[in-house]
Amino acid sequence: MQGKTVKLLTALCAVIFIAALIGTVLTLQNKGEADILIAVDGETLYSGPAKANEPFYLRAVYGEGSNLIRIDARGVCVEWADCPGQECVHMGYLKNASLPIVCLPHRMVIRYTEASQDDGLDAVSQ
Ligand SMILES: [Zn+2]
Repeated sequence: MQGKTVKLLTALCAVIFIAALIGTVLTLQNKGEADILIAVDGETLYSGPAKANEPFYLRAVYGEGSNLIRIDARGVCVEWADCPGQECVHMGYLKNASLPIVCLPHRMVIRYTEASQDDGLDAVSQ
């Protein structure tokens, strides 16, 4: 009788553990699937996943200037730019919804889309 109870409790613990594990994995996956929006002078250049297993580049052009944006497994960043301050390059990878990557001279903005922005705010308030 006692052995049965122990087995039952072990099974119960295992189920709770697995459920928690699945929950964690799903949450992490959702974060990885967050979409971003890249806009130049208010015009959408790119709208899609914030990460890519195979790295690729996007060139944002504004007037004489341009930014080379890299999207890879870690996320999105400005790899190269010819703006005077280079602030967009120094910002590195896009970290959260409240801190978009901005290149003022080139009117370029990289930010999470509205839906994932809400998720970001929820995560902060918790
Ligand atoms: Zn810049």
